[in-house]
Amino acid sequence: MKALIYHGPGQKALEDHAVPRIEKPTDAIVKITKTTICGTDLHILKGDVPTCAPGRILGHEGVGTIAEVGSGVTGFARGDPVLISCISSCGKCEYCRKGMYSHCATGGWILGNAIDGTQAEYVRIPHADTSLYRIPTGADEEALVMLSDILPTGFECGVLNGKVQPGSTVVIVGAGPIGLAALLTAQFYSPAAIIMVDLDDNRLVTATQFGATGVVNSSDGNAAATILKLTDGRGADTVIEAVGIPATFELCEEIVAPGGVIANVGVHGTSVPLHLERLWDRNITIATRLVDTASTPMLLKTVCSHQIDPTLLITHRFKLDYIIDAYETFSQAAQTRALKRWSMPRQGMP
Ligand code: ZN
Ligand code: ZN
Repeated sequence: MKALIYHGPGQKALEDHAVPRIEKPTDAIVKITKTTICGTDLHILKGDVPTCAPGRILGHEGVGTIAEVGSGVTGFARGDPVLISCISSCGKCEYCRKGMYSHCATGGWILGNAIDGTQAEYVRIPHADTSLYRIPTGADEEALVMLSDILPTGFECGVLNGKVQPGSTVVIVGAGPIGLAALLTAQFYSPAAIIMVDLDDNRLVTATQFGATGVVNSSDGNAAATILKLTDGRGADTVIEAVGIPATFELCEEIVAPGGVIANVGVHGTSVPLHLERLWDRNITIATRLVDTASTPMLLKTVCSHQIDPTLLITHRFKLDYIIDAYETFSQAAQTRALKRWSMPRQGMP
């Protein structure tokens, strides 16, 4: 089969690779029909993720059909259409029993990281019964790829952790795919205002189309003052950090209202100044987490019933043969206006 293989920082190649085989009775092999590139894949290529060794097939998002199941898999059979969760979970360990699947003792975020991932024609999924979701008949598979990672991440790490409430004021710093996923799912709770912050005007235009009530381009360095003006000097009840650099987290610290929550979603690679000299008496909460994908079944229902439309996040489409071009397009998002993109295997596809 063809697979996109990581060869160390800055190096990747589409190569022939052996088709994965069942290794444990709880495994399934899934034939990928659609996959996507994630910002996290770019982090790996920068060398930021030491658990991902050279030789690894990248990718942790996708949909497909079951090609084979191990003898211990009871919930799925050959031919079933499935959504792959970016988090693999055994369902039995101490963390899984708490619903904290991201910290599963034998799973968590391992796909396209510690084990081979989804940017290939086939992938092995461990703990298949508790890491795959059956795709309902008639569902739009393209939309569902957004449920592998970005929608549950934006919702769990941003909206749930940020305690978005009816009538509240929300600021989302970063209008990339994850920030936009938080924007889509924040609207479940009818906040009074959702202000999006980004450096890229194209993404801010998209944010308005997705339901943002206000946008702020932070390139002039005055974002905090602008947001305070937009919120009558109060700041925001929920501030969602969806970038992962010190400057954006410090902006969140400046604009959180008394009693508010800073919900961190960004992947941080360096330390960030915490201004307790200003925040110590403001009753704020700072929340961090990795996505557990515990909300995936709920989100699947909202997508299938058209309460939210994640296909808005899909801007470019490639065949798997052109996945190197897809990476190129994604890594130059400001020029290409790319958000999420997916590629397809060569066989059986136009
Ligand atoms: Zn991802
Ligand atoms: Zn577990």
